[in-house]
Amino acid sequence: EDISTDIVIIGAGGAGLSAAIEATNQGAKVVVVEKNAFMGGNTNYATGGMNAAGTKYQETKGIQDSPELYFKDTMKGGHDKNDPALLKVLTEKSAETIYWLEELGAKLSEIGRSGGQSVDRIHKGPEGMPIGTHLMDVFADQIEKLNIDVRLNTKAVEILAEGNKATGIKVENKDGNAYNINAKAVILASGGFGANPELVTKYKPELEGFGTTNQPGATGDALAMVEKLDVALTDIKEIQTHPTVVPKINEMITEGVRGDGAILVNRDSKRFINELETRDVVSKAILSQEGNTAFLLFDQQVVEEASAIQKYKDAGLLTEAASLKELGEKLKIDAEALEKTVNTYNEYYRNKEDKEFGRRLMNVELTKTPFYAVEIAPAIHHTMGGVRINTNTEVINNSGNVVEGLYAAGEVTGGVHGGNRIGGNAVSDITVFGRIAGKNAAEAVKGK
Ligand code: ADP
Repeated sequence: EDISTDIVIIGAGGAGLSAAIEATNQGAKVVVVEKNAFMGGNTNYATGGMNAAGTKYQETKGIQDSPELYFKDTMKGGHDKNDPALLKVLTEKSAETIYWLEELGAKLSEIGRSGGQSVDRIHKGPEGMPIGTHLMDVFADQIEKLNIDVRLNTKAVEILAEGNKATGIKVENKDGNAYNINAKAVILASGGFGANPELVTKYKPELEGFGTTNQPGATGDALAMVEKLDVALTDIKEIQTHPTVVPKINEMITEGVRGDGAILVNRDSKRFINELETRDVVSKAILSQEGNTAFLLFDQQVVEEASAIQKYKDAGLLTEAASLKELGEKLKIDAEALEKTVNTYNEYYRNKEDKEFGRRLMNVELTKTPFYAVEIAPAIHHTMGGVRINTNTEVINNSGNVVEGLYAAGEVTGGVHGGNRIGGNAVSDITVFGRIAGKNAAEAVKGK
């Protein structure tokens, strides 16, 4: 049966729920539809943290940061393709969004470093909890507390429109029954298309056959739905691979493991790249090695620092050895050369200079037994491109005009990350822009 509401939101991931919470707090009546049987989408898989510049937590640690520096790092990481206006909003609103999330119950005071950042800027969940899990707990509490209507197993199949104006959506529930949700505003928060091989290879043929870190529902449904409104797409060919994913089983090893001290070696037992380079650079370097994979190598101390590793250990993904020699033998690579590589790296650590690859943050000397390794390769991770929005998260059509009543936030949009997303920026993106979408949509529907 058809229903009516102020705002309908497609997708119950981080962007959709940030929007739902903010819009509800602004007094709007909200319905969220989610095609999966659970909330969270790819946000459930977010491990690293959330980038934010100039927070009180950075200040306490004596870290000098600013939205300008964050902007500069992100632009560089995105190959200067980022939409500067969107990026400005992201960087300027990042710190206050950390505090907003904390007001909702999050704890984000732990700070670390991730690839492509010039200072420690990534704010992590408490006690090593993956950020996605943590935020979804917080959001779920709010959904319950605010009594927000979240409809699981409910798939949006069409955007209803009158001329250039969105007026609601058509959905299908699990039994295939369709009904309309009429709304004064529609927010697209349906995520990316990293689990849709047809779309991925349509835009980037060289990714044919790649694995994916995405949840199966990341199929880019919105891209077809917006066609009738002539919505503009931006950076749609920009698809990111994550450099360290375990082949075949597609388990992603979080970037933090490298941040906390792991190195990469190839089948010649040699390092081949600054491991903290951006994802695109590291991915490309791995694909140029023999076998198109590499080994992520670390010691017991890294395990103790990077709490996420325990999960990989428990899952039996890691090769463990009492010495580097034994590790080399187990990996079937030259063990002596491996010892030499690690010793040389440890020397760089002690002298604070990586003479070969210029890695600046080395974190630990790799000396504490046991040693560990895991074979990794790049897999499809994030689709940077998507629907075009302005800084109010209003969706823009191919004539450059706003589509009335239509907003978008999160991975479904393009522009924020340019040609390459920096680790820690997905969570900033979905929360900063999700919140803006919720707020602006709520304001727009007032009195309508
Ligand atoms: P973001 O990080 O941008 O919030 P997520 O992947 O975390 O993106 O969340 C997007 C959510 O949208 C996922 O839970 C996904 O299952 C859901 N979704 C995708 N397409 C549809 C659709 N057609 N109808 C309803 N929900 C959808």
